[in-house]
Amino acid sequence: MRQRELEIASEIAQAFLTAMRPLEVYRLALARVTPLVDASFSSVFLRDRADPSLLKLVCAQNWPQSSARFLSQLRIRVGRGPTGRAVAENRPVEVQDVFADPALREWWDPARELGFTSLISLPLAMDGEVSGALSFYFVDAHTFEDHERTLLSLVTRQLAATVERAHLIEKLQTANAELSRQKEELEYRVREAELAKRLKTEFLANISHELRTPLTSILGYTFLLDAGHVGELTTEQQTAVRKIDRAATVLLRLINDLLDLSQLTLGRTALAEQEEEAVALVRRAADIVGPPPGGVEFRVECPEGAIPLRVDGEKVAKVLENLLSNAFKFTAKGEVVVTVRRLGTPEHGAPAVEWAVRDTGIGIRPEDQQAIFDEFRQVDGSSTRLYGGTGLGLALSRRLADLLGGEIRVSSEPAVGSTFTFRVPLRA
Ligand code: ADP
Repeated sequence: MRQRELEIASEIAQAFLTAMRPLEVYRLALARVTPLVDASFSSVFLRDRADPSLLKLVCAQNWPQSSARFLSQLRIRVGRGPTGRAVAENRPVEVQDVFADPALREWWDPARELGFTSLISLPLAMDGEVSGALSFYFVDAHTFEDHERTLLSLVTRQLAATVERAHLIEKLQTANAELSRQKEELEYRVREAELAKRLKTEFLANISHELRTPLTSILGYTFLLDAGHVGELTTEQQTAVRKIDRAATVLLRLINDLLDLSQLTLGRTALAEQEEEAVALVRRAADIVGPPPGGVEFRVECPEGAIPLRVDGEKVAKVLENLLSNAFKFTAKGEVVVTVRRLGTPEHGAPAVEWAVRDTGIGIRPEDQQAIFDEFRQVDGSSTRLYGGTGLGLALSRRLADLLGGEIRVSSEPAVGSTFTFRVPLRA
């Protein structure tokens, strides 16, 4: 190739690398190459996206003024004429003299109108797929020389790569648009789900509140009945009244837990801190839970001396009550031990108080150890399950621990036992 041709080839290669839009590269290639091969005008045809059996003109150089206004409507059928054949057969088609070939009779009129005698069409092909053609038109009959063919095929290859790149970019843009549409939809769904969750919690809070009032009155009247304030009861009547009382108490506890949980979820629970003592809080919880089941020993292990802390004692005791009642519920023999200790010193580690509730009960499989902290989750959720409960205790406890700035962890081994560790930070 000559020096000038080499320069042009490298200029086009550069444009291919830097141009943002394919049209810029086509324009540059046509503008540089057309005069170099002494063509009078030139064009790039690409397959029409709506109908790939048609080629449409996407870029032209020096196109004769007389028909320039029809350019955008110009279509060539793949397989027809030199350009159509270059695409159909994926090879360059050279026509030295249109008027010398009777097979090209139907092109004589357009050739006369546009003012060309000779043309060369080169397919724009990538990986065997032809996306269009590059055509150069000459006023006079033209014999193509090898150096022209080399330059033209080089330019054609670069343009074909440009078309390919444009397709890739377009695909990427479509994929991006689809992704951002999906993202928007997901965000919308998340917002909807959050709203639904909040409404559910609001509903729970309201309904629990409404249920509590009549239940409190049931409990009030069972108390009056049981105490004989409305007349002496027979033994059977008393037994019945106590059953009502026990059932209503369980129901009240459940409703209270639900109410507490929904208020915590809605962020409506405030802390009431005061001076407390860590071991005394365990005793407070143990008094509410009551004695351990027969065959289970209950102990509290603690260092000598008091462990004072400023905390919302009600809430700490509530968590300990939940942990302790679970330990009693799931332990048939052995022991339940609560170990209380102070962690860290002002110099080493963050100071905290830790209550570890260890039992020798049924234990929890590793795969269940996360889920038990979810609302209404029980390892044995079946209707025929062995142990009573609602699956709210741990969910409530974890939220309370969060609110207190602390945490609850579990370590457990099936058939050996479980340890629930509850920690709250000690503030200076
Ligand atoms: P509930 O005890 O009312 O079912 P919780 O939220 O307190 O609800 O506990 C959820 C589940 O975690 C329990 O149903 C039980 O399967 C498991 N679990 C909790 N504590 C223990 C424990 N100490 N030993 C064995 N399993 C436990």
